[in-house]
Amino acid sequence: FQVPTAINEPVKSYAPGTPEREEVLATYKEMYNSTVEVPLYINGEEIKTGDTGTMSPPHDHKHVLGTYHKAQKKHVQEAIDTALEARTEWAGLAWEQRAAVFLKAAELIAGPYRAKINAATMLAQSKNIFQAEIDAACELIDFLRFNVEFMTQIYNDQPASTSGAWNRLEYRPLEGFVYAITPFNFTAIAGNLPASAALMGNTVIWKPSDSQIYSAKVIIDIFREAGVPEGVINVVYGDPVMITDTVLASPDFSGVHFTGSTHVFKDIWSKIGANINTYKTYPRIVGETGGKDFIVAHPSANAKQVATGISRGAFEFQGQKCSAASRAYIPKSLWEDVKKYVIEDVKSFKMGSPEDMGNFITAVIHEGSFDKLAKYIDQAKTDADAEIIVGGNHDKSKGYFIEPTVILAKDPKYTTMCTELFGPVITIYVYEDKDWNKTLKLVDGTSEYALTGAIFSRDRYAAAEATKALQNAAGNFYINDKPTGAVVGQQPFGGARASGTNDKAGSYLNLLRWVSPRTIKETF
Ligand code: GLU
Repeated sequence: FQVPTAINEPVKSYAPGTPEREEVLATYKEMYNSTVEVPLYINGEEIKTGDTGTMSPPHDHKHVLGTYHKAQKKHVQEAIDTALEARTEWAGLAWEQRAAVFLKAAELIAGPYRAKINAATMLAQSKNIFQAEIDAACELIDFLRFNVEFMTQIYNDQPASTSGAWNRLEYRPLEGFVYAITPFNFTAIAGNLPASAALMGNTVIWKPSDSQIYSAKVIIDIFREAGVPEGVINVVYGDPVMITDTVLASPDFSGVHFTGSTHVFKDIWSKIGANINTYKTYPRIVGETGGKDFIVAHPSANAKQVATGISRGAFEFQGQKCSAASRAYIPKSLWEDVKKYVIEDVKSFKMGSPEDMGNFITAVIHEGSFDKLAKYIDQAKTDADAEIIVGGNHDKSKGYFIEPTVILAKDPKYTTMCTELFGPVITIYVYEDKDWNKTLKLVDGTSEYALTGAIFSRDRYAAAEATKALQNAAGNFYINDKPTGAVVGQQPFGGARASGTNDKAGSYLNLLRWVSPRTIKETF
């Protein structure tokens, strides 16, 4: 099987005077000044239920971007019926036809819709243009292109045959439909979770996060224009518990592709368990959930490099990445230098609305997230075993702005060392240089999560020691780099323990979950 060679989409600069900068700013303004109405999308039809919610920019929460229609149970049921009806034709289509649809979607994003998908992500998820470009444009394009390559990698994996017989593996789609639940923090993940399952021949019910409906509409419109047929990807919004319960009650539910919080995923898992006797097939359960991602520096590390790892790893994307660094372990001998560089770097970050291209930090996603972060930060201000090194201010009068904040904890088990906050806050513990080995144990034992982690060391033996000691502490492990920014096709992404099923987004391992192979032996 031959397909176009996938290449990672080059990131545009958006430097002053570039056409892409002018275009995205004009698109942003136009979208800000108009309102949209987002219908459900079932069986190729736009459905307006009349029961609506509103969408606002997190950095300007009194402004209304538009409304979206919420599904009732009957709409979810209709989406299920539709997905099942559409399955026969879609699954029976030659793989090249399915691939072509998603390759076309990638080209539409790379060209005519780049400004729109970026502006939508800036407006509704409050990302600065560089974050939007990396996520909504490049990473989504990468997923769509590389998935096609991964698909052929899977189809090409065939068993040996002996003379007189021919053994084959037929990679069938799952029998039933797939449920995709996507998070607010990545437009790329929102597009990839339904698209990867659909590429492998499945039909999908897609429920985007309430905080991401605005960019989800841009995605589904692109998929439609690219030629995804009616009924193949059906989109529903509304009460998440009702939607999930309705979907999981179907005997044809055959898998969930999830990115979001750990407790929601565990809840889905137990509901699937409770329904297990009602399903035709064991459902595939694929989830990427939380993280409490670490940076650990060895005394041999370069202090400036460690500081950059902290400030970029913790604060890019407002720390709203599952992979964001949120706890760091620094040896005493490096601490004064690391502290000086981190403070310098953080103080240089400008915070504000994404339409001002100079802003590095924008708003966190919603009031719930803001209040949670503010509570932990304020607590650290009064706790005797914590100290705020830089940041600590917050203001939600216009938008949900949390200053990038570094907390120094005297106790390595201080609450913010252990709890996932999902925002621009990192907690640092300074260890005695002689306690290096003890610290590695501490890093491994502090959190229930195991998504990403980074070790900084110029000593090869220490780097090797940490790589071994932290073998199960992270699914993505970085040596002398920040623990974020996995690139599709380069660093397959995912973690274990409470961080997920580790089905590695951005690799064939993920797509493998969306097929159920049949072995065929033909004797001549
Ligand atoms: N893949 C992203 C990274 O490596 C994180 C994805 C997520 O937050 O779920 O930074």
